[in-house]
Amino acid sequence: MSIRFRELPKVSLHCHLTGSVLPETVAALARKHGVPMPGGRTAQDLYDIDSHVDLDEFLRVYDMVGQVVRDADDFRRIAYESLTELGSKHGVLYREIFVSPPAHPGAGYRVLLDGVRAGMREAEQDTGIGSRIIVAINREDTPAAAVELVRQVIEYRCDEVVGIGLDYAEVHGPPELFHEAYRLAGKAGLNRTAHSESGPTPNIEILLDVLGCTRVDHGYHVVDSPRITDRCRAEGIVFTCTPVSSDIGRYSGSGNGKHEKIAAMVEAGLRVTIDSDDPPMFGTNPTNDFEVLHRTLGYDTDQLLAFTLNAVEGCWLDDSDKSALRARVLPHLAPA
Ligand SMILES: [Zn+2]
Repeated sequence: MSIRFRELPKVSLHCHLTGSVLPETVAALARKHGVPMPGGRTAQDLYDIDSHVDLDEFLRVYDMVGQVVRDADDFRRIAYESLTELGSKHGVLYREIFVSPPAHPGAGYRVLLDGVRAGMREAEQDTGIGSRIIVAINREDTPAAAVELVRQVIEYRCDEVVGIGLDYAEVHGPPELFHEAYRLAGKAGLNRTAHSESGPTPNIEILLDVLGCTRVDHGYHVVDSPRITDRCRAEGIVFTCTPVSSDIGRYSGSGNGKHEKIAAMVEAGLRVTIDSDDPPMFGTNPTNDFEVLHRTLGYDTDQLLAFTLNAVEGCWLDDSDKSALRARVLPHLAPA
């Protein structure tokens, strides 16, 4: 029987709000705020995947998206669309979404948060999808800016914000620089994760030991160290892998769609989860990332559901909400 990829239940732990703005929405918000589209691009060719080989060009488009999302209603709209068009319509039951205040310099933290929370509530009412927020630090900013952002998170404490993350280029912002921001977050009871996509591999232990992370975003290079792999398996560390977006940068494999690193992580018994990162920017969506792994690595329904169940275990809901989420996934497993 063929697998109905779209209907398979999914739990999304690695999706960025700014990276999931639909191209039509970027064009509409650019018009609304009188911002020209970069390089005369249109909604149709805004996310021209081939041009992402040039990182500067990709970041120019990404920054432009950040600039056109400004007021609370803009944030409501993009949160709603991420959770419905790129969420519930693809079988996503629950998402912890990365929200990056530094990517939206024109908006204050409270305006941004209130807009996103309104979009989350609307999406849940309309489709039943649950969601929470991870506030993401831009590691290319200074450690002092990271501390300041965490202070804002603590000052304007909302139930929806369950943790902090760290993204952008690892090479420009090694994890240990952000120990103070992470210490403050931990003290305030916030969960912690961080991106580690390019490595080096010892960065994974810095995430665990210095930053207090319980999850690693990407983390493919873990398999280059048998010792760190054994440790992560023993400690049940969750890895949020994003096959399609990471294949473009050759992180999850050789850039040929074979995803060797993800295969090795699964083989090693690590807690792998699958998501889409910045879906429209990389021409993907949650259904497609599952389908790609089925096509290239032969993963069947039970393996794909194992990714979802790993995400249930690794998510930051409390125990009773987690049990309720698990109960929605289990009936999809084939009877033993
Ligand atoms: Zn990411």
